[in-house]
Amino acid sequence: VKNSGGNGYEFYNEAISKMIKEEEELDDAISKALEKEEFYLVYQPIVDITTSEIISNEALLRWDNESYGRLPIPVVIEFAERKGYIEDIGFWILKEACRQNKAWQDEGLGLTAISVNISVHQLEKPDFVDKVKIALELSNLAPEYLELEITETTAMENVNEKLATMLKLKRLGVKISIDDFGTGYSSLSYFTKFPIDTLKIDKSFVRDMLEDSNAMTIIDTIINMAKAMDVAITAEGVETLEHMEKLKIMGCDKIQGYYISKPQKAYVLEQMLKKLP
Ligand code: C2E
Ligand code: CA
Ligand code: CA
Ligand code: CA
Repeated sequence: VKNSGGNGYEFYNEAISKMIKEEEELDDAISKALEKEEFYLVYQPIVDITTSEIISNEALLRWDNESYGRLPIPVVIEFAERKGYIEDIGFWILKEACRQNKAWQDEGLGLTAISVNISVHQLEKPDFVDKVKIALELSNLAPEYLELEITETTAMENVNEKLATMLKLKRLGVKISIDDFGTGYSSLSYFTKFPIDTLKIDKSFVRDMLEDSNAMTIIDTIINMAKAMDVAITAEGVETLEHMEKLKIMGCDKIQGYYISKPQKAYVLEQMLKKLP
């Protein structure tokens, strides 16, 4: 970076102060985004691999902001986590997702569940279970229709603490999925301890499965372990019929991905739900 002729340090300092300025601008924008109602959720169906019936819809955060609308959402989440905004944003996501799902149920669009991604920063807070309870109470959604997605990496950080929180969540009646499974290199046997309902196979394995026998072996191992644990399996990132058919043969229970549907705004998904028999 510091190599633009002269001593180069001016350029270097300029680059740093530009970065700091951008950080400050982004911080400012994110801190106001909730209030300005710039966040919204999109929804992606998770379907039964044999009946194609929608079992759940995963809520995914989106942010429309003049200057930052195009930032990839993992960057936004990471920034919100680092700056301490994720708790408030996450609580809003939880409430909004529950509200929307209950509205669909009340409209007679089927008794699907809603899957909500939970950041490690939310899960670690002592009042997290209370916040889940509040989101359920405010929306009147029955707990069995709320599924919390916790990444493998999150679950493995301070394992005992996470285990205790998960047990409380289970007592509340909500469902738990382990997201991005297979990427954390944790011992598979560890997961027999967790009170989980679903393992979600990370999309990187699904993407590679038809060309890479290692990816296929990993998927096969995860599915077999899940069967032994009596845990359901969702494959994410399913983009083609070929992937789906192979996964069906391998015993996968649920799939999610562009082959079924991209994440959609609520009203678009509603149209889809209304067309279903
Ligand atoms: P994730 O939870 O693993 O979500 C799945 C991501 O894969 C989504 O990206 C989705 O749009 C994308 N996807 C779905 N189907 C396909 C497919 O067939 N092929 C490919 N290549 N991709 C597919 P998105 O929405 O950009 O989210 C990225 C990540 O950001 C999420 O990964 C999750 O870790 C995080 N995230 C998104 N929304 C939230 C949220 O509300 N809260 C938290 N804490 N994290 C969120
Ligand atoms: Ca997820
Ligand atoms: Ca209530
Ligand atoms: Ca995932």
